[in-house]
Amino acid sequence: MTGDDPMELAPGVWQVCQPLSEEVPLYLHLVVGADGSALVDGGLPSSLPVVQRLMGAAGVRDGDLRFLVNTHAHHDHIGTFAALRERTGARVVAAPQAVRWIEDLDTNLREFALHRPDIIPDSPELRAELAPTYGAPCEVDVTMTEGGAVRLGGGVALEAFELPGHVVAELGWLERSSGTLLLGDAVTGTSWSFFHGHVLPTEFRRSLHRLRALTMDEDVQRVCLSHYASRTAAEFLGLLGEVEQYLDDVTATVEGGLDDTPRSLTELWRRTCAELRRAEEFRGLAMVAAHLREAVAAGRARCVGPDLYVAVTSGG
Ligand SMILES: [Zn+2]
Repeated sequence: MTGDDPMELAPGVWQVCQPLSEEVPLYLHLVVGADGSALVDGGLPSSLPVVQRLMGAAGVRDGDLRFLVNTHAHHDHIGTFAALRERTGARVVAAPQAVRWIEDLDTNLREFALHRPDIIPDSPELRAELAPTYGAPCEVDVTMTEGGAVRLGGGVALEAFELPGHVVAELGWLERSSGTLLLGDAVTGTSWSFFHGHVLPTEFRRSLHRLRALTMDEDVQRVCLSHYASRTAAEFLGLLGEVEQYLDDVTATVEGGLDDTPRSLTELWRRTCAELRRAEEFRGLAMVAAHLREAVAAGRARCVGPDLYVAVTSGG
């Protein structure tokens, strides 16, 4: 995948691609209204020239950029916000629960990547890998929840939908005048060499159902995502089916490691990575821990010590 020229996907909806690696593309989106424009997610700090190209192609000058709209507070979605906010005066719009991670990057890094230093140690290598992906902290100007909207004039607006799962609080944005649904990682990658991850498996499944209903009921014409090429509504419904299947596979694999013998979180995480052939890293660890928490809450597993789990069989 190469960094292509910006494209206008629908009137006023612009996209550009910045490959993050051979397997992970990053798409950035700009929505243009009569009174101003909104960048939907800010990419990495290295995305600044890419955003510049996107604005140039769309004919959006600094003074026209009115909003920096966020889907969720992972580093690859907020990296240019501080620089753009300072330069253009655009206002940052995010979910209330995303504010802490956008405004405090130490907390972001600690809770996202270093959440279990006893299992995945805080190492110079990990720090070196993540440091360039963290930009400057940025103030959030407006918090938004389900039903809120960012109005750009001429009937162009971004309406917020809450889609938890990949993270605790994620927003999707529906632009009705063009029939465009703009998503961050509410639909996660499923086929990368590492787990893209989700921290609320049940909510994730619910959000996928919600997206199917939304696509069918709201006359969605195209769906734009951060890590997938944009697609038609029909193609998107197909993708939702694939992600649901993936979620089933992850659930079955994590819980398939449980039996009568207490198994540790580390053991179950390593087993899940091996079975599904993914690298052992922090996103997958958080995901497996979340699945185990939910298995316990649903009565399918029991926690028998710190990070130790057994299966609950139907007999007892
Ligand atoms: Zn992402």
